[in-house]
Amino acid sequence: MSIQNNNDIERQLALLPAAFFGYCPRCDERTLFDRVMIGGGANFAPKCTHCDLDYDSFNVGNGPAAFITFLMGALMVTLALSLELSLHPPFYVHVLLWVPLTIVMTIVSLRVAKGVLITLEYRNKAKEAISSDAQKEVSVDDEDA
Ligand SMILES: [Zn+2]
Repeated sequence: MSIQNNNDIERQLALLPAAFFGYCPRCDERTLFDRVMIGGGANFAPKCTHCDLDYDSFNVGNGPAAFITFLMGALMVTLALSLELSLHPPFYVHVLLWVPLTIVMTIVSLRVAKGVLITLEYRNKAKEAISSDAQKEVSVDDEDA
């Protein structure tokens, strides 16, 4: 039992680096995202170039984008206010510091969040939920076959 738990913990810990570096959830090759960091943003490649896992079949959606926007907005405003209240730098320092930092931090955290979601979706074999009526139709179709 404890060996099982240790393996689960190791798998969970390995999830964040795998998501950050864009490892394929099946073969662990670095093929998850389209291109390197800024050029590709946080877009998935169509499929793994190593094991042909179809990334388009996963439905990660835009859930992480809203969450990341609120989180980064709160973090950057807090940091900007702290800097302003403690050092009173000229306005251009804020522009030069916070605009690029916000863009880079948003892309990096979006990649990590989407990487975590697609890896968990693959590991847990998650599929879209269907209504109970649709499930009955599917089971009736299965009995006919
Ligand atoms: Zn792969």
